[in-house]
This record gives sequence, C-alpha cells and structure tokens, in this order.
Amino acid sequence: MEAKALAYASDASNEERIRELRREGMLPAAELVALLATITPVEAPLLYAEAREVREQAYGKDVYLRGLIEFSSYCRNDCLYCGLRRSNAHAERYRLSEERILSCCEKGYELGFRTFVLQSGEDLSYTDDDICDLVSKIRAAHPDCAVTLSIGEKPRESYERYFEAGAERYLLRQETSNPWHYGKLHPAELSLANRKRCLDDLKDIGYQVGCGIMVGSPCQTWDFVVEDLLYMKAFRPHMVGIGPFIPHKDTPFAHEPAGTLEDTLHLLSVIRLMLPDVLLPATTALGTIHPQGREMGLLAGANVVMPNLSPSDVRGKYLLYDGKICTGDEAAECRACMARRCASVGYQVRVSRGDHVSRRAEGAPAVR
Ligand code: SAH
Repeated sequence: MEAKALAYASDASNEERIRELRREGMLPAAELVALLATITPVEAPLLYAEAREVREQAYGKDVYLRGLIEFSSYCRNDCLYCGLRRSNAHAERYRLSEERILSCCEKGYELGFRTFVLQSGEDLSYTDDDICDLVSKIRAAHPDCAVTLSIGEKPRESYERYFEAGAERYLLRQETSNPWHYGKLHPAELSLANRKRCLDDLKDIGYQVGCGIMVGSPCQTWDFVVEDLLYMKAFRPHMVGIGPFIPHKDTPFAHEPAGTLEDTLHLLSVIRLMLPDVLLPATTALGTIHPQGREMGLLAGANVVMPNLSPSDVRGKYLLYDGKICTGDEAAECRACMARRCASVGYQVRVSRGDHVSRRAEGAPAVR
C-alpha cells in the first residue's frame, strides 16, 4: 500500500515506535504511517503482545459475544464494494418478519447472547415505526439485553426515535475518513460529510457508537488509514469494527485484491493501543480470509466476536463479499464453535451485555 507520509518519518525503529505508542497511546501521523507501512513479521509479535497486555488490563481474558441478525438483504444504496448493492441483479433478496427476528433473539437468549445486533441493507420498507416496534419488543422480551442497530444512514429524528424505543448502540462504519477515497468507494449521492453527521448525531443522542473501516479497500493508502486513526482518536467510539476488504464477484471491485491478514492484525493492535478500552471485534471477514483469522485477531487485541444468529435458510443470501464463512451453520453451532475458538487461544466468552468499560466511570452499572 502506498504511504506518502513515509518521507516525513523519523529514523526511529519500529520497536521504538511500538513502545512509544504503548506509552503515549499516540504517535505523530508520519510515524504511524511508517510503522504500518514497514513493520516486518519479526517486529509484529511485539506489537501484538503490547496490544494484548493493554486489552487484558481493560478486559482480562473475557470475550464478549454479539449475536448478529441480518434481517434484510434489500438495499437502496449502491456502494461499489458491497454485494448487497442495489445494482447487483444477481443478489438474492429477503427480509425477515418481526416474528422471525424475535424468534432469532429468543434462540440467541437461550444460547447466552445478551446483545443482539440487527443489521441490514438500507431497506426502506421497514419504517421508523417498524424499527421502533421491533426494538421495544426485543427489549420487553429480554430486559437484560442490549439492542444494537446497524441499518445505515438516517435522519437525526429517526435515530432519536430508535433510541427512545430502547436501542442503545449503533454501528456505522465511516469506511474511510478521506473525502476523495470516500468518493471512490461510494456512488455520488453518498457523502463522507453525511456519514460523519450521522456518527456525530448518534454520539450526541447518547448511543454507544461503533465506527470502522475495511482494510485494503480499493484506492486505500496508509496515509488514508492514518487519517482514519486520527478520526477515531478524536471521535472516541465505543467500538471499532475493522475487517479486510474482500471482493464480491458481482461488484465493480470484483477483480480488486483483498485486504491482507497481516495488515488487519497490525491495525487491530494499533487501534487497541490508541483506544485502550474500545470494544474491538474479531470480524467474520477476518475469519473468512484465514481459517484462524479471528483467533489471531483476539491475540492482536480484539475482545468481541459476533456469531451469526440469522436463520440458516437466509444466511447464504446476506453476501457482502465472496466466500463468507458459516453460511450453513445453525446459531447453536456458531455459538459452540466460537467458544472453542476463544478457548483455544486462552480466552473465554462471557454471557453478559459486554458494555464499554469506561461507562463504569460514568456511574453505569459494572455489569458487562
Ligand atoms: N447497511 C449497513 C450495514 C452494512 S454491512 C450500513 O450501511 O452500515 C456492514 C459492513 O460490511 C460495512 O460497513 C462494510 O464496511 C462491510 N463490507 C461491505 N462490503 C464488504 C466487502 N466487500 N468486504 C469486506 N467488508 C465489507
């Protein structure tokens, strides 16, 4: 990946950069670019170890579970990277009824999930009333659970209504913090300015907010990634979702290379060191590019996993990228498989809501 700011970096070693990043939680932009662009397989274990230590100081060996329910594959948007884009005529579309979504939550609850992430394309057939109804029914059925929405860009008033209905968390990746790069990944009608407006509104309303990027997306440079890191440091999200870009055969990016395992792991660690108590998922995309990708993500500083709770008959239709794993599994299998994977690297999944730790300082209950 290109890295223009490399020209402005000091002659410090990567070991020195890693130690300073651990100590200060920050590095000058050119040093971050230099670290990410030049770190070698010999230097990376130190970065992972520092990130792991910081993660264990904040969260011990616990891994939080989020149950992902992909409730609609319809989308009005045309993002160039995404298999659900509206101009993909080959995509199989489905939407789940409220009843089916509630039964996914029911099953998830029995399996020990205490957070449900409702994700979809931007499907306007669900009105704000529908979303509010759904959220309040889930909260009523499971008062000890958190509901996370991941349904894209909405007006502030809609976000306010969902929050009042009981949604406390929202995931919306910025995808890139550079306006030129944003334009390369998205159709002209979408803008980084509106994406950031959404993120600011969500934070302001009181949501626990997750932002994030794809690693190795087309036209990405290390300079842009560092712009993302600076954005995240200033925005202070509760969660950061990052995973490798993986091409989808029916998109304009079909022939672009995927992001790499190593770049994703390095970035997970750098984010952990910059935002010590952030919730950091080891994503499905990371598990897709390498069979042990998620385990390696945990060992690089991640502390959340999001097993799929979607009904197995629709899983194969929510295809953001090619080769997505676990499309044939049942929720219970995913839950058990995740517990085994975490245990294999010395971590344990926790049955709890898994709130962001700094909330304790704000007087929120310590229940995680
Ligand atoms: N419509 C919702 C959910 C989008 S899917 C929203 O707008 O937030 C969730 C995330 O999947 C996206 O934010 C994007 O970062 C990621 N994603 C989409 N296509 C991808 C691809 N080809 N490879 C890897 N990640 C992808």
